[in-house]
Amino acid sequence: MRIVYLDNNATTQIADEVREAMLPFLTDLWGNPSSMHTFGGQTKKYIETAREQVAALIGADDPQEITFTSCGSESNNLAIRGGAEAMDKQPHVMTSKVEHAAVSGPCHYLEDRGFRLTKLDVDEKGRLDVETLRREAKAGKSLTSIMWANNETGVIFPVGLIGEIVHEFGGIFHTDGVQAVGKIPMKVSELPIDMLSLSGHKLHAPKGVGALYIRRGTKVKPLILGGHQERGRRAGTENVPYIVGLGLACELAGKKLKEENTRVKAMRDRLEAGILETCPGARLNGDPAARLPNTTNISFDYIEGEAILLMLDDKGICASTGSACASGSLEPSHVLRAMQVAGMSVHGSIRFSFSTYNTEEDVDAVLTELPKIVQRLRELSPFV
Ligand code: PLP
Repeated sequence: MRIVYLDNNATTQIADEVREAMLPFLTDLWGNPSSMHTFGGQTKKYIETAREQVAALIGADDPQEITFTSCGSESNNLAIRGGAEAMDKQPHVMTSKVEHAAVSGPCHYLEDRGFRLTKLDVDEKGRLDVETLRREAKAGKSLTSIMWANNETGVIFPVGLIGEIVHEFGGIFHTDGVQAVGKIPMKVSELPIDMLSLSGHKLHAPKGVGALYIRRGTKVKPLILGGHQERGRRAGTENVPYIVGLGLACELAGKKLKEENTRVKAMRDRLEAGILETCPGARLNGDPAARLPNTTNISFDYIEGEAILLMLDDKGICASTGSACASGSLEPSHVLRAMQVAGMSVHGSIRFSFSTYNTEEDVDAVLTELPKIVQRLRELSPFV
């Protein structure tokens, strides 16, 4: 059965070029970049090239502003815990109600240790309540962490405006860019962003590598103590093959950005329009005006997202649901709940997320199968 993979916000396939570039570091070039001898030390220059490639994709002025980590979650933890603990006075921690657990987790960790935490609302389209942010920012220096783009809906946040407000009141601004990097153009050097997280496996590099952009002058207390790797910000012998892979993946993503914004977006739009037209009771979640080009999140009244997913899976179609199955009960997604999506559709939401590897045939496959699945489930639904 042909697999139709439309779950690229969960993870992406490793690009062939990336795998090829990593291989020498898994075979012949296995030295330690910190070694004094030539054999080990020669790997260091490849790490520095990767640093330049990552910096170029996000538009950082200086590659030294990039710290390699093990994943997006580690980057977020380093920024939030490390950033807050490095500030002179305990900051007010601000975040939104629609963040990934890798942001809300470290924010709650700080709250448990006495930091004041404010979680900002979003409206029914998933847009941040900027006026409340402004009001709360006045309360004192903050460490604010707001995502660049939401993983479930693709909604893009106004990071420039958010950063400006946070800075106006002396705070530090971190953005979780895990879903945005490589999908939309960005130039962090020209934005009021102090730290930005990214993750390799969301942009065709392997799982287990990420990076944190830390603007020159921003203080961060390391989470992992030990050697002086990564200028003392993250101890541990560098994962050379994965760092090399991440670097190349960033370079390729930069080259394909235009494609993401045209071909990928066109496929996403065709899928979305087709579903809304052919499936009664289907509605779009999120802000159509400010969304990632690769993501759509659609609710289907009166049916469970999990049931749709299982039936799609049966046809070889991989998507994802907005809700997570927690301790045996089907908990609706915290993102859709924060957007106050109506009760009858909050359980029935499906996310389709594209990459440059998708084709028009993938869209055709969903448009052939999904309307039949929705109709069958509606017939079985006790709520209709
Ligand atoms: N932040 C967002 C918005 C994500 O979507 C994800 C992964 O799904 C993460 C952080 C965590 O990244 P990683 O899997 O590299 O730890």
